[in-house]
Amino acid sequence: MTDAIRHLYLHVPFCSRICPYCAFYVHRGGVGEQRAFVRALIAEAALARRSFAFDLETVFLGGGTPSLLPADEWGTLMAALPPRRVGAEVTLETNPITVTAEKAAAWREAGINRISLGVQSFDPGFLKVLGRDHTPEIVERSVALLRGAGFENLNIDLMFALPGEATGGFAATLRHALALRPDHISAYALTYEEDTPFFERLNRGEWLRDEAAEIEMFEGTARELDAAGLPFYEVSNYARPGFESRHNRAYWRGADYLGLGPSACSTVGTERWTNVKDTARHAAEVEAGRLPIGEREALSPETRRKERIMFGLRTREGIEKELLLSHDAAVAEATRDGLAEWREDHLVLTRQGRLLADSVAALFV
Ligand code: SF4
Repeated sequence: MTDAIRHLYLHVPFCSRICPYCAFYVHRGGVGEQRAFVRALIAEAALARRSFAFDLETVFLGGGTPSLLPADEWGTLMAALPPRRVGAEVTLETNPITVTAEKAAAWREAGINRISLGVQSFDPGFLKVLGRDHTPEIVERSVALLRGAGFENLNIDLMFALPGEATGGFAATLRHALALRPDHISAYALTYEEDTPFFERLNRGEWLRDEAAEIEMFEGTARELDAAGLPFYEVSNYARPGFESRHNRAYWRGADYLGLGPSACSTVGTERWTNVKDTARHAAEVEAGRLPIGEREALSPETRRKERIMFGLRTREGIEKELLLSHDAAVAEATRDGLAEWREDHLVLTRQGRLLADSVAALFV
């Protein structure tokens, strides 16, 4: 048996509507389907417990929109998960429109202690373009409900560089988010994923990307959030000290993790696998007593080391020297071009390097 699994991800595939930029495995589903899915997830957790030892430090419920699940399912679902440590971080991805006092209380009661609120923008026009079903007022109400229920660790997810978005427009979104006093903000530039309506619109020339505006928004975000007491700890993530996401940090430092639910990915030792991307097949597999694995991939220690470099470079701490021993040329290029610098025995990105984080990481692949 491998070392105990410390990080667990659960993928809940339901969404009330499908956003035109989304590339995750998601679909609609009524309450009956959702309840059946919870049974399948519980069965999968039981199967996983036969194959792996667990000592969970973090659990992340993502999707999809896990907050869609009925309030009365949470106690049973969370109790059926593998054992977690006292003080484990348990995050729920939440769509603002799904937050009710009843659900917030059920989530707290079930042991969830961190909420990641998918806000994306405070501009009603852009929320429409993004296909989101909430308004700024709904976000404000949901934050009040969550704080009222006792959630002390709250993330707000934002996206910038939306089609036609001006720099000042995103600055207003950021100020609106800060006024709600979140403990953590994730701010990613919109990515146009293949096979999405947004990708097609970009390719048809309906929209143009404005790289200069994107850079300005990225830099403005880092400046504004730093001044507000939420310094960056990863290129796209900002937190009050002590509120950094422990789950994401585990991914970035290359820890093993297990994923449950359709399309969920797991990485354990030298193996990576992805669950079937089909909710009905997922249920059928677990009912037959099999882990619902779709694809498997063998990972060499070298691949895992490179992944650690790529993710670690994006973090404030950077990469320890020992991991970079065979990358003299890449280190020389990144430092010569002012994209990275040594801070004691760690290589960290400079301000300029953070703007080009993916290109710098590519030097090491
Ligand atoms: S709510 Fe999130 S997961 Fe669901 S469709 Fe929109 S972007 Fe995708």
